[in-house]
Amino acid sequence: MTVSTYPDDDARWDAMRRKDRAAEGAFFIAVRTTGVYCVASCGGRPLRKNVEFHDTRQSARDAGFRACLRCRPDIDREVLRHATVPTSLGLALVARSDAGLRLVTLGDDADALTADLAKRFPAARLLPDPDGLSGELAAVAGFIDRPETGLILPLDDRGTALQQAVWGALRAIPAGQTASYAQVARAIGRPAAARAVAQACGANPLAVITPCHRVVRADGGLSGYRWGVARKAALLAREAA
Ligand SMILES: [Zn+2]
Repeated sequence: MTVSTYPDDDARWDAMRRKDRAAEGAFFIAVRTTGVYCVASCGGRPLRKNVEFHDTRQSARDAGFRACLRCRPDIDREVLRHATVPTSLGLALVARSDAGLRLVTLGDDADALTADLAKRFPAARLLPDPDGLSGELAAVAGFIDRPETGLILPLDDRGTALQQAVWGALRAIPAGQTASYAQVARAIGRPAAARAVAQACGANPLAVITPCHRVVRADGGLSGYRWGVARKAALLAREAA
């Protein structure tokens, strides 16, 4: 599948009516009656006769339009390419920025996973791109089944300094082993921060790749898992085998 393009005004109008998240920043919509320009997914319902399309925000500005305060077309959008792949744990959604893997989530329904992606990244341009991501999809699906084989992909898991430290510590827990929140807190030199460690685990954007499933309660209980405790149990059972 090729990435959508918007070759003429009809295609652009259609993308706007569909609030197409893949069209964000690909062109701009200027509304003569309001003097404002927007990205395609902003959600306004102007009459077509009042709309003009611009290839760039500069072109819209030069024509006298000002940026919409709601959709902020003057801000550069992060481009995220995304697709889903079947795995032994259900569907995995994989999203990649220019810098690397930005999000890996698990679920049972592709539409729900894509809706969650859109909610997490409200200011991103989201491009469905299963062909362009075929290498990443195969690598992630393979890694979920066989974590011991490793994963050689750049990661773009942005977070606070504490989150980065926690996620790094999680990736240092070998397959087949588990740790408690308190142990991870000690590993990052913040022994009093077990609660913050738990929150960072919950905010982990890279399911399985950053193995938050290897963090369990101090008594060995599974605790929670944002992608389902059944998946956590399956992962740990497989890794312990
Ligand atoms: Zn707008």
